[in-house]
Amino acid sequence: MEKINLEKFKGLIWDLDGTIYDISEAIKKAVGDSIEKYEMNVNPDDVLEEIAHLIEEIQNYPVPKILLNSYELLKVKFLEGISFFKKLRIAIYLFNQFNKYKEAESTIFKGVDELIAKIYNKKLRLAILTNNKSQYAEEVLEKFNLTKYFDTIIGFNDVSEVKPSPEGIQIILKKWNLNPKDTIFIGDMTTDIEAGKAAKVKMICVASGLAKKETLNEHRPDILVDNTEQLIELFNI
Ligand SMILES: [Mg+2]
Repeated sequence: MEKINLEKFKGLIWDLDGTIYDISEAIKKAVGDSIEKYEMNVNPDDVLEEIAHLIEEIQNYPVPKILLNSYELLKVKFLEGISFFKKLRIAIYLFNQFNKYKEAESTIFKGVDELIAKIYNKKLRLAILTNNKSQYAEEVLEKFNLTKYFDTIIGFNDVSEVKPSPEGIQIILKKWNLNPKDTIFIGDMTTDIEAGKAAKVKMICVASGLAKKETLNEHRPDILVDNTEQLIELFNI
C-alpha cells in the first residue's frame, strides 16, 4: 500500500463524525428501532449511508429550519412511497433515538488519538472541519483529551456553505497561509471527497463504516482505505 510521507505536508484537516468519532452504533440502533416501530420493509444495511447523510445534515439545524426544509430533506429512498406526514414522524423518531444513543454508544476509533498525537509531534498543523456545530466538535475533542492538538475548528456555523463545498477547507488554508498541495484532508463521506477535490488538497477517504466502499470509490478520492487501522498504517509513523 502507498504510504504518506508527512515531510511533504504542513497541514492536516480532519472530518469528525465517522472519521475520528465513531457514531455508527448510535445510527444503527436508531435505524433498527425505526424499522421495527414503523414496520418498514427495508434492509438496515442498505439505508445506513443515506440516513448518516440525513442525520449529519439535520443534526444541529434549529427545528424551524428542519421543518422549513423537511420536504426536500426527506426525499430519501428509504422513505419512498410513504406519505409526507408519516415520513416526518419516522424521521423525528429516528433522530430522537439517535440522540438518545449517541452519548453512550459513541467513542473515538481505536488508535486515532495516538495517530493525531504523532502527526502533531511532526509539527503539522491540525484542524477539524465538520458539518456539525463547532461547539459540538469542541465538546467531543475535550471529552477525549484531543483539544490541545487542534488549532482550528470549523463547523456549519462558521461557513456559508457546508461540505461538499470547499469553503471550510479554503478558510482553514487561508488562516494557515498554506497551499492546497501542502495539505491533507481526511473524511469518511462522499461529501468530504467532493469538498477535498474541489479545494485541490490531498484527499484521503476512510470507509470506517457508514458509507459503502464502492460508493466512496466512485467519487475517486486520492487514497481510499478500509478503516482506521489502515489509515494508521498509511502514515507509517
Ligand atoms: Mg463524517
